[in-house]
Amino acid sequence: MRSYQLTRWGHDLEAREVPTPAPKGAEVLVRITACGLCHSDLHLRQGYFDWGGGRRVTLEERGMRLPLTLGHEIVGAVAALGADAAGVRVGDARVVFPWIGCGACDLCQRDELLCRKPRHLGARTDGGYAEYVLVPHARYLFDYGRVPMALACTYACSGLTAYHALKKVGSLRGDDCLVLIGAGGVGLSGLLIAPSVTPARVIVADKDPKKRQVALESGAHAVIDNTLPGAIQRIQELTAGGAAAAIDFVGAPATTEFGLGALRRGGTHVIVGLYGSSIDLPLPMLPHRLLDVRGANVGTLTEMQELMALVRAGRVPPMPVTTRPMAQVNAALADLEAGKVVGRCVLTP
Ligand SMILES: [Zn+2]
Ligand SMILES: [Zn+2]
Repeated sequence: MRSYQLTRWGHDLEAREVPTPAPKGAEVLVRITACGLCHSDLHLRQGYFDWGGGRRVTLEERGMRLPLTLGHEIVGAVAALGADAAGVRVGDARVVFPWIGCGACDLCQRDELLCRKPRHLGARTDGGYAEYVLVPHARYLFDYGRVPMALACTYACSGLTAYHALKKVGSLRGDDCLVLIGAGGVGLSGLLIAPSVTPARVIVADKDPKKRQVALESGAHAVIDNTLPGAIQRIQELTAGGAAAAIDFVGAPATTEFGLGALRRGGTHVIVGLYGSSIDLPLPMLPHRLLDVRGANVGTLTEMQELMALVRAGRVPPMPVTTRPMAQVNAALADLEAGKVVGRCVLTP
């Protein structure tokens, strides 16, 4: 089968012919019909995260090996079943939960997302920029109802990540404000899913006027350019004394400082974005202002079940999706890197 693989860190993906996997045991082979392009693909291609101060952590240190087929927002049709696979039939259309654990470690028994040796599709094992993907078990496959296929795939990462982060802010009230920083694919998902998770008013911060406009049209209570001088003052005014929570979908020093500055006492800041580097954090600020700083990354299988139930019930408004042929994956990654993508770009075979 044709697959687009990362063969050298920092380079374009390479179109390669590889053997089509044959499902064994409980495995299910899925013929891919669409795969969303994610900002984390840029980090995976680069091969390291910037920890600031010249420090880097490489993906090789974290267990990623090349060559690897990237792509983790996968939708497709069941093509073949291993002898012990059950719960789906050939031809069933499904979105794939890619955040799969080893199933054997102590942390997997508590929560698969905490796994010490993850088998994440498109990040540790071969993913969706290909004709087929091998899924270890049918429990990772979800019916997406009447949602268009190119939109359905986005729930596996951008939707799920946003849902998980929204749950991490804890329970807010209707008179609370929640600030979402960054209105790219994941941030916009957060805005669209927020009413299903929290009654709080949502304010969106982004430097790009086009993305702010889309946010306003997608239900934001207000929008703000967080890069302007006085942005923290402005957000304090907009939130009448500070936000109860902020979710940072960028994860850069400036957005973290903005998010922490936007909070009222007792507020929660959740970092999702992996832009990188570090900040100078005055430690007494956390106890003085009773702040919580949390990290969130993708989501759990249970959260995927909850999110897909909301999606099938029509409770998640669609986000803008553009499709491109999978053969253009490198051009599409370049556009994503240049900030040219509004909503999600989804590749189709
Ligand atoms: Zn992703
Ligand atoms: Zn594990």
